Amino acid sequence: MPELWLSLDDLPAGGREFSFSGQELFEGFWREYGLAYRPGRPLAATLAVTPQEGGVRIVGGLTGSVVVPCDRCTGDAEIGFDVELDLYEEAVEPSIEDPEPLLSSADGHLKLNAGRLLWEQFNLALPVKVLCRKDCKGLCPGCGRDLNVEACTCEKDEGDPRLAALRGLKLKQ
Ligand SMILES: [Zn+2]
Ligand SMILES: [Zn+2]
Repeated sequence: MPELWLSLDDLPAGGREFSFSGQELFEGFWREYGLAYRPGRPLAATLAVTPQEGGVRIVGGLTGSVVVPCDRCTGDAEIGFDVELDLYEEAVEPSIEDPEPLLSSADGHLKLNAGRLLWEQFNLALPVKVLCRKDCKGLCPGCGRDLNVEACTCEKDEGDPRLAALRGLKLKQ
């Protein structure tokens, strides 16, 4: 996840707002993990952090868009973000199970793992199946042509594979 820790040691009682260019934050990660994502509308994030008993309240959002390959045709699909968040995070000591917690109180210093928080929000906002449009026809499994752009002459119906096997047997007779 993107490395970005915010020191909250001198957080005023009324809280403080942090803002980021999300793009900068995420592009390195996309490269590192070989994700074929590209920036669309500039990604931006704000986090308003206020102290609470045992933790902090975080109110903020993530906006912008990212261009991701379509699951069917690999063409460009633009995913827009308009994420709002309002959550309470408890301060915890880093542990073996969670070495980089969202809100760390290691060595008496309060630090917010903003990279992890924003990365989680970013991924939650991505649809499970990315399509360039709802009725994307995808690529032909036979010849690889983009069926949104042109039709192809591949046999559309290969038939029941068991029948195909029988046809094969007949040919051998
Ligand atoms: Zn598509
Ligand atoms: Zn084809």
